[in-house]
Amino acid sequence: MYDVKENLHKVLADLPAGVRLVAISKYHPNEYIMAAYEEGQRLFGESHEQELRQKHETLPKDIEWHFIGHLQTNKVKYIVPYVAMIEAVDSLKLLREIDKQAAKCGRVIDVLLELHIAEEETKYGLTPDACRQLLADGEWRQLQHVRICGLMMMASYVDDEEQIRGEFRTARLLFDEIKAHYFADAPWFCERSWGMSHDYALAVGEGSTMVRVGTTIFGPRVY
Ligand SMILES: *Cc1c(COP(=O)(O)O)cnc(C)c1O
Repeated sequence: MYDVKENLHKVLADLPAGVRLVAISKYHPNEYIMAAYEEGQRLFGESHEQELRQKHETLPKDIEWHFIGHLQTNKVKYIVPYVAMIEAVDSLKLLREIDKQAAKCGRVIDVLLELHIAEEETKYGLTPDACRQLLADGEWRQLQHVRICGLMMMASYVDDEEQIRGEFRTARLLFDEIKAHYFADAPWFCERSWGMSHDYALAVGEGSTMVRVGTTIFGPRVY
């Protein structure tokens, strides 16, 4: 096995107080997750509904699961009963569906809004203006079963550190703007989820509160 325990401790040692590690375990077997669990890690992230369901059913129940992938509205009902946070909400439609399903099981689900700032073409994530629009629209205020806790983003997958830093800074500025505008009195709006294996050190330098690290801990994914 890849030296999960040693790698986990190396990553944790890089994180200042107040920055949490979401260990991204997608495509990795339960034994890898258990190796990290035995070292005290309780927060894990997955990006596929079925895989998450299997892991949730077979692994210890005190694991906190974050859903980090693109979530189709028809899959929301399967994860809402147990998921701790849905990190990549990028439409009002998805937010409404999470609210509806959470109401059915009497839960309030913590979510992050996913930003699209990177230069890469992707269908997912809200541009800064789309994010402003979603909040300005105001319908989210009626959704009693979702709690918007902050922002999530992925920087461009490039070597240029200045570019990556710039993208994290853009996200940070938008976070501050939204916080001041809509969530000044909401202490739960405090999460900035940025930083992955190749850029978490930069992310931490730019105000991340939650890094999502997979490969550095568990090794390359076997698809
Ligand atoms: C897979 C994934 C990660 C982890 O990526 P690594 O490069 O393996 O650290 C982080 N965030 C999201 C959204 C992912 O899909």
